[in-house]
Amino acid sequence: MPSNSSPEPGFARTDFVLPRAPDGSDAVYLAGNSLGAQPRAARTALLAAVDEQWAAVGVAGWEDCGWWATPQRLGDRVGALVGAAPGQVVVGDSTSVQLFGALIAAARLRPGRSVLVSDGGHFPTDRYLAASVARLTGLELRTASPDAMVPDADTAVVAVPAVDFRTGERWDLAAIVERAHEAGAVVLVDLSHAVGVMPVALDALDVDLAVGCTYKYLNGGPGAPAFAYVAARHHDVLDPPLTGWTGHADPFAMTEAWTPAPGVGRLRIGTPPMLSMLALDGALGVFDGPDSPDLAGVRAASLALGDAFLEALPDAADVVTPRAHERRGGHVAVRVRDAEGLCAALARRGVVVDARPPDLLRFGFAAPYVTVDDARTAARELAGLVQ
Ligand SMILES: *Cc1c(COP(=O)(O)O)cnc(C)c1O
Repeated sequence: MPSNSSPEPGFARTDFVLPRAPDGSDAVYLAGNSLGAQPRAARTALLAAVDEQWAAVGVAGWEDCGWWATPQRLGDRVGALVGAAPGQVVVGDSTSVQLFGALIAAARLRPGRSVLVSDGGHFPTDRYLAASVARLTGLELRTASPDAMVPDADTAVVAVPAVDFRTGERWDLAAIVERAHEAGAVVLVDLSHAVGVMPVALDALDVDLAVGCTYKYLNGGPGAPAFAYVAARHHDVLDPPLTGWTGHADPFAMTEAWTPAPGVGRLRIGTPPMLSMLALDGALGVFDGPDSPDLAGVRAASLALGDAFLEALPDAADVVTPRAHERRGGHVAVRVRDAEGLCAALARRGVVVDARPPDLLRFGFAAPYVTVDDARTAARELAGLVQ
């Protein structure tokens, strides 16, 4: 077993630049579930992309710097973090764009079925896009909580998050996939709040499609490109709606009609945002570098942080996140009277969290750079303010 298989919380802290607290010290940064802190390697990779690639190489960079292959190269790296064998993940565009494409591609895998089932408490963009895709495809949109969904013979697609963005509740993906597959439906999972903070086993769970964000726990930087996964068993018939030229089998032939690239390459859309991609390229080394712990270790450290936070909270605190490890994601949410005001007051004390309407404060436990002291400080400051 490698020596770092049970990493301490904060195991890679020196590899990050943390935002400053008002007193000039490093902030207690618990907003990594919203925007991950900056890995030093992301900055280095970004500067190298600007100076040594774009400036020095110019257009030849598409081949000579490997830019063209980057969406799938990074896809395989992200894939390894979500239990996907190579060749099933593409990186590019935003989560919202990937969701739109994945919802329609999923519906097209089940022609003749009439219902799209989506989490009623899903992240807003997931809800809004499900409604638009339902109108566009003629599917009826039904909403339910992920643990209460009852897919039936009419269900084409079941769309769920791995972790609730507000409450931090972790859903039982194995049970969701089993129920959906028994009914003959396909499952689309949004991994935005799971990737990089816990192991995910997409292939082993038999998930059909997934999307996710890389600027939260993967620390890719603001607006870092998202990823999409499609299980290999669907590739031959996969019919994505956004038929951009870079998903063509032979993009530079510039042919009349769109011929899909083999495999997951057809999920590529337009010219990839190379600067953002190369920043992510640097950031991923936190998770797949030679000294990186595996995600089981990262998960254990994140749960330990959550436990330290929960233990240091006053008994009266209204914690909405399940305390059981198997039902908890990477963040803990506390219901308070004035979430916005408390969020601002915590920031003045050097504790960065976020508020979600109407009354939740979210504390994100990104184990690479958050320490047990940070978790206790946040609980103590919150308790002091609430009193
Ligand atoms: C963060 C998040 C998104 C973000 O979508 P963008 O297109 O990157 O703004 C989408 N869905 C979920 C579940 C998220 O947590």
